[in-house]
Amino acid sequence: MKPVFSIIAPVFNESDCLNTLYERVKEVMDDTQEPWELVLVDDGSTDGSTELIRTLAEKDERVRKVIFARNFGHQIAVTAGMDYARGDAVIIIDADLQDPPEVMLELIQKWREGYEVVYAQRAEREGESWFKLATASLFYRTIYRITDVKIPLDTGDFRLLDRKIVDVMKTMREKHRFLRGMSAWVGFRSIGVPYKRAARFAGKTKYPFKKMLKLALTAITSFSYVPLQVAMWAGFIAAGISIVAIPVVIILRLIGSQFFYGQATTLIAVLFLGGVQLICIGILGEYIGRIYDEVKGRPLYITSETSEEK
Ligand code: UDP
Ligand code: MG
Repeated sequence: MKPVFSIIAPVFNESDCLNTLYERVKEVMDDTQEPWELVLVDDGSTDGSTELIRTLAEKDERVRKVIFARNFGHQIAVTAGMDYARGDAVIIIDADLQDPPEVMLELIQKWREGYEVVYAQRAEREGESWFKLATASLFYRTIYRITDVKIPLDTGDFRLLDRKIVDVMKTMREKHRFLRGMSAWVGFRSIGVPYKRAARFAGKTKYPFKKMLKLALTAITSFSYVPLQVAMWAGFIAAGISIVAIPVVIILRLIGSQFFYGQATTLIAVLFLGGVQLICIGILGEYIGRIYDEVKGRPLYITSETSEEK
């Protein structure tokens, strides 16, 4: 039977969470009285999660497996889940149970009221370091200010997407993916549901600082040209300062002031301009590297094993 709801969970070394995830999702979804499926995407796990997913898929045909040939990253894993999902509504949820499956009922409620995107908004977070909270808060607010699409504050990937949105997103095959931004970009009617983000059920975060930084950079470069514009403004400011400074120095020298003697001023000016230029080249490089990745046109992921067809 064709499912009404598809629940997608990306899995990267979550062996201690998987069985509980399945049990809790089953309990909640059976309440809806509608057919559902749970798409578990194994993103190159090495801790036995793969075997657990296989077992779950054998035991319950509503569990579908998508097993990657290696680790491709969280956002790609969710994308694969969307490719394989068959439901009229798709719910993305973390496998570590930080997103309580019970909240799915509230998301579904809003979907039934006619909203196409229902995102769960973190009102509270449990069991996270102050560093994670502070960087996350800064991240969401920066993204909000400098990107062209308005991505709701404090929302992760925990959300419900109507089939319409999923079908559009399936045609967006960019390599560097920031799914929250992409679903905001698609548009349609959206609404937030506040929830309390729980602590991790087991294991530890698969998002070290480096990966978080990468995601932040993807979010910015995918949805904003502001960094390129900053480069231009830095150029204007540096040039402007020198246009004012050159006559000032000449005049001071002519009237005999001792103020600007020495190499230090020259050196500082050279270093400053050199720095500005290097930063600008770096920003260009960042965008060009991403253009290169897109041009190569490689597939987003390679699967080694899946439950039947896409
Ligand atoms: N994840 C993944 N591939 C990765 C990193 C993470 O599929 O390369 C999954 C992970 O198993 C979890 C979800 O993405 O289900 C969110 O990751 P995590 O809980 O580690 O992030 P955090 O909640 O700490 O930001
Ligand atoms: Mg987590």
